[in-house]
Amino acid sequence: MFTVFRLWLLEKYAKKYNIPIMQKEGINFLTKFIKENNVKNILEIGTAIGYSAIKMALVDNDINVVSIERDEDRYNKAVKNIKKFKLNNRIKLIKDDAFNVELNEKFDLIFIDAAKAQSIKFFNKFEKNLNKNKYIITDNLKFHGLVESNEKLSKNLRQLVKKIKDYIEFLKENRDYETIFYDFGDGISVSKKR
Ligand code: SAH
Ligand code: MG
Repeated sequence: MFTVFRLWLLEKYAKKYNIPIMQKEGINFLTKFIKENNVKNILEIGTAIGYSAIKMALVDNDINVVSIERDEDRYNKAVKNIKKFKLNNRIKLIKDDAFNVELNEKFDLIFIDAAKAQSIKFFNKFEKNLNKNKYIITDNLKFHGLVESNEKLSKNLRQLVKKIKDYIEFLKENRDYETIFYDFGDGISVSKKR
């Protein structure tokens, strides 16, 4: 079966079961970024069903991805999907809460796309695994527009939005990185380690 068709099936599945995979604009930006910046080793926090990991690995056949997912069903689905694309030799999945995972390898890109309230903690935990002059990219900084909206939100959502704003401030103030914020998809930041 054609790769394009398989990817389309994943997108359809995610839509049907409400799995928050990267939006088209966001994933296009990410894959282009990987190509242009010659990124070869990627750590992803938040695999879901493997969509973004597969898209990133398909950019070039010498790219390796390590991806962490805590949800058992999604992890199992991701394992199957990655096999279908014959990418199991280049995408390594870890089924655990990212906060329990200790890695020694270093990466050219750390892609944070997991629990949105925890981004500062993911950043602080995994930045030791980043090569110098390389990148941490974070998804969902707009959180479906809620971060910039004046809408009246439930307490939970208000807390979540506050955490995302705190993360944006954290990135702006972090002198060890230079961060650019993009409006693509659901809002993406690219932080380059100085
Ligand atoms: N990157 C995927 C989408 C990920 S959705 C794509 O674009 O295709 C976010 C995922 O992060 C969810 O499946 C959720 O279970 C997982 N997640 C959230 N917090 C986590 C944590 N602390 N450790 C591991 N996975 C986590
Ligand atoms: Mg996302």
